[in-house]
Amino acid sequence: MIGLQTFLQLGIRREINYTLKSLGIEKPTPIQERAIPYILEGKDIIAKAQTGTGKTLAFVLPILEKIDVQKSSVQALVLTPTRELAQQISREIKKMIENVEGINVLAVYGGQDVEHQLKKLKGIQHIIVATPGRLLDHIRRGTIDLSTLEMLVLDEADQMLHMGFLPEVDMIIRETSSSRQTMLFSATIPSEIRSLAKKYMRDPEFIEIKAKKVTVEEIKQIVIETTDRRKQATLFHLIEEHRPFLAIIFCRTKIRAKKLQDALVAKGYKSEELHGDLTQAKREKAIKRFRDTDIQFLVATDVAARGLDVEGVTHVFNYDIPHDVESYIHRIGRTGRAGGEGVAFTLVAPKDLDFLRMIEKGIHQKLERQVIQGISIPSQEDGKQVDSKQKSESNRRSKERPLSSNRKEDKVSKTKSGKDKRKATVHSSNKMTRLKKDSRSKRNSNKSTKGRRQGR
Ligand code: AMP
Repeated sequence: MIGLQTFLQLGIRREINYTLKSLGIEKPTPIQERAIPYILEGKDIIAKAQTGTGKTLAFVLPILEKIDVQKSSVQALVLTPTRELAQQISREIKKMIENVEGINVLAVYGGQDVEHQLKKLKGIQHIIVATPGRLLDHIRRGTIDLSTLEMLVLDEADQMLHMGFLPEVDMIIRETSSSRQTMLFSATIPSEIRSLAKKYMRDPEFIEIKAKKVTVEEIKQIVIETTDRRKQATLFHLIEEHRPFLAIIFCRTKIRAKKLQDALVAKGYKSEELHGDLTQAKREKAIKRFRDTDIQFLVATDVAARGLDVEGVTHVFNYDIPHDVESYIHRIGRTGRAGGEGVAFTLVAPKDLDFLRMIEKGIHQKLERQVIQGISIPSQEDGKQVDSKQKSESNRRSKERPLSSNRKEDKVSKTKSGKDKRKATVHSSNKMTRLKKDSRSKRNSNKSTKGRRQGR
């Protein structure tokens, strides 16, 4: 009976129930309600569910119920595509066992100090959360033995496939006991993942969680029409205008992320970059500073930010439009998590239109468009300098552009002169203004509690 069960009724022990309640987690989400009973029964499952559905606890909670603390062997392994996701899952497990005696969990991922990891591996570890590469290192060294493994989770399996980890995943599975229970979680099930499941899973139960809308309802999504040359000024304008409490800015490449980070710092913003060129220590430091709200902005590439779950992210800026629907959903899912509201801006240059259309088709939603006169596109005064022939041509083209179809919903705030371009912003609907105010008051209340966010 969907929606009526409690965690206790699903078979989760009192101590963990208490922890869940203290974190404000009272009612199981659909994926939890459907997956937990199967996992407790020992069945293999394939769960088609995205981040943000509560999928992590859907496997963490029943695994915790099944761990036998009397045994000193590794009983559960969670494989993840990225270090950040491995860290996040192990953090979530640690939170859940705060009131439980004797269960040990270790995160194993590349870039970490091996000696430190080896020392920890000498102790008893019941659950290991790992990325494939580093785990294989340990298997080869003989420092991790998976022959007695009872439960295996392949999390974000489609991402492991996209990142080229499937051969490693295959090697790892072959190191485990064939009597293990296997749980596969993936937002999409491409044919390679289906073959992997066929090869290694026994009569799996299939669970699909269909979101009503593909993207999270609480996220306000806005497209800003601009050009490549005007992107930076547009972003700065949006930041000044909306004053995010915490924001993630997505760039297409490491180089672009680095360049934008330098520009933000030069402007006096508190920001860190997060991409694959940084050492593990630097990446961890950036995430920690962001989580601790020491910085306001994280400039990230897709891979580095995958799985990042930070509370209080009010804004996501797609500085560069993502090139696939999955990435768009993942990116905007960084905000508005677990019921909080969020705003996602996507800066779109004319050459990005095909990607925008593909995203809109994929999420079955037409996104609201806005322009910022004089900032994201040339202002009317700028336009006067263009000879009239050119102007009428560009007007004709802009009327044709599907990108501008929602403009009539916007109200233009008129400027007296062309000097103050900032005033020439095209304000969006009243709803947006409300959101902005809410985000400000949220920021202010956070500011007053944290105290250290002064001087932004
Ligand atoms: P996930 O899909 O695992 O990435 O979870 C997304 C977010 O939802 C995390 O911040 C979880 O702590 C939160 N969450 C998980 N389960 C629940 C629940 N039953 N009720 C409210 N929030 C939840």
